[in-house]
Amino acid sequence: MKQNSSVSAPSVVKQSTIVEAAQRICGERGLRLTKLRLAALEEVAGNGPVTAYALMALLRRRLARRIDPPTVYRALDFLTGAGLVLRLESRGTYAVRDRPGQAQLCVLLLCDRCETTVEYEDPKILRLIEEEAIALGFHLGTPIIECSGTCQRCAGKMEVSP
Ligand SMILES: [Zn+2]
Repeated sequence: MKQNSSVSAPSVVKQSTIVEAAQRICGERGLRLTKLRLAALEEVAGNGPVTAYALMALLRRRLARRIDPPTVYRALDFLTGAGLVLRLESRGTYAVRDRPGQAQLCVLLLCDRCETTVEYEDPKILRLIEEEAIALGFHLGTPIIECSGTCQRCAGKMEVSP
């Protein structure tokens, strides 16, 4: 077993868990968790990876008022900045983080067949990237690596199907 790394089982993050994490993180960092931001977080948690436009529709229905795209993007910027939500660049969608508030490098394993996202952290990979970035004079932002493939469950279905 490798130390300091972990793989989480693909699961829908419980809304109560992510809300508690959001309240704790925002409290610690002096960030304001508005009603809209909280609603956006709960909708992302409850609906799996969603596009900004799908989230806008969910928020309009939930809050029963007109919400424009900039409002949704501002809420998503806040949630990604707080480490509560991840933007899946290759899919153009947003998902809640398995480990809210983590600023570590994160490797995302994205299933091509279903919506499963597995978040994986490995400090060794981060150190390698940091060393290369320093050598190249590059200032790292939030390092996220996305890998597409087939999740364990979908791979299992492929094997049993005739
Ligand atoms: Zn899958």
